[in-house]
Amino acid sequence: MTFQALGLIDPLLLTLKALGYKQPTPVQKQAIPAALAGRDVMAAAQTGTGKTAGFALPILQRLTMEGATEPGAVRALVLVPTRELAEQVYESFRNYGGNLPLRSAVAYGGVDIAPQIAKLRKGLDVLVATPGRLIDLHDQGAVNFALLRTLVLDEADRMLDLGFERDLDILLEALPKQRQTMLFSATFSDEIRKLAKGMLRDAVSIQVAAPNTATRTVKQWLVTTDKRRKPELFLHLMRKLGWGQALVFVKTRKGAEALVNTMQEHGIAADAIHGDKTQPARLKALERFKRKEVQLLIATDVAARGLDIEALPLVVNMDMPSVAEDYIHRIGRTGRAGMAGEAISLVCADEVDMLREIETLTRQNIQRFEEPGFEADHRVPDTAPKGAAAPTMKIAAPKAAKRGPAAAPAAPQAAKTRDMTPRPAGGSESLGIWTPPEKVGKALRSRSGDDTGKRAAGGGRGANGGYRGTGGTRNATGGPEG
Ligand code: AMP
Repeated sequence: MTFQALGLIDPLLLTLKALGYKQPTPVQKQAIPAALAGRDVMAAAQTGTGKTAGFALPILQRLTMEGATEPGAVRALVLVPTRELAEQVYESFRNYGGNLPLRSAVAYGGVDIAPQIAKLRKGLDVLVATPGRLIDLHDQGAVNFALLRTLVLDEADRMLDLGFERDLDILLEALPKQRQTMLFSATFSDEIRKLAKGMLRDAVSIQVAAPNTATRTVKQWLVTTDKRRKPELFLHLMRKLGWGQALVFVKTRKGAEALVNTMQEHGIAADAIHGDKTQPARLKALERFKRKEVQLLIATDVAARGLDIEALPLVVNMDMPSVAEDYIHRIGRTGRAGMAGEAISLVCADEVDMLREIETLTRQNIQRFEEPGFEADHRVPDTAPKGAAAPTMKIAAPKAAKRGPAAAPAAPQAAKTRDMTPRPAGGSESLGIWTPPEKVGKALRSRSGDDTGKRAAGGGRGANGGYRGTGGTRNATGGPEG
């Protein structure tokens, strides 16, 4: 199946070709023809399935065919739960619509409203917005919905989790009743079904992965330990398994900052995104992570929502989430667009109820591992159904560890781990400490030149061949936030 066969116009086909999209993803195959035909859509699709293009391409095409907007008016509205997702979806519209004469903008809270009002005044074809700011804009008379023909609710489940139900009611009241509506959600609870019932008409139902099923391409496992040992275990696994870049989830803003500090004390470049950071600071942290200037991006659930980081190999749950659905969103950050990924959770005894909920929701038992020296004093109770409990495994270091120069901990016996042996997530040969690409040259120079043994123990051969000592140079996060 090609994009052409879906009925897309040439300017969009050219853009997709330039982006290197060879064929539509399953959600795109179903959503694009339905949306082009003007049908309502209800799609159970997780982030990473290509759902954004699934609604953006047909919207752009229809807007192009239907003519121009008017001052103050918005013709297509995409509502999203967070600022990060708003930026990401807006960027997708700009990318996909690069060859089209359409105007789009993004509006969310926490930043100056005046530039948003100025853009709206000229009229927009597409507006991507968070509900709260859109209500403000509407209250100020800055936006007119008379020409609105299409509404998308993206990550609808998250909107309800974040308490946007009332805001949605207010907005739906203000929108024309005659419109096309598309609702995308990773999970489908009774509340979402109720919401869908009230806003969709004769919708085409799309399901690309069973709802509430974690992305299949993501390999998931967990390690049990005590709460207080988690940071230490994290550092230990990072070295032992040669982790490269990872997105690390924690429960609280304070926890995120504390973990950044701990990592930095160990010479590991880390940055955080959480609700206490300003929007520019969050975007900056994300950009630095994308540019591989930092190895770890430490995030809370709300802040990480909607992040699109290409080919992220590893997600680590330092804390289990507060809501089971968030586990699915978290691990959806890896294994995107069909790529392999790995999601590892460090689980302590008081998280067992959440673990149980997650396993019920995802209809699976996450394979357990234990690391010698880090066994939990407070045992994490079994969560598998009676009689089905799989034995807890020991973590086997990647084979390459034996060749590495680093003082990697002795590989424990991989008891019956043939199938479940965790593979290194940071690249096949990665063993020691990850090196930001721009530092590799410098690090190699210092190694071949003044290699005075300052390289700390634990510095090893990184995925990209560079060396970096764990106790060496302070990392790239030393600069001020701004
Ligand atoms: P989304 O689920 O919309 O967040 O998309 C996930 C990622 O898949 C984004 O980085 C997109 O650029 C990428 N993507 C979307 N559609 C395709 C496609 N048909 N082929 C290749 N990559 C795609």
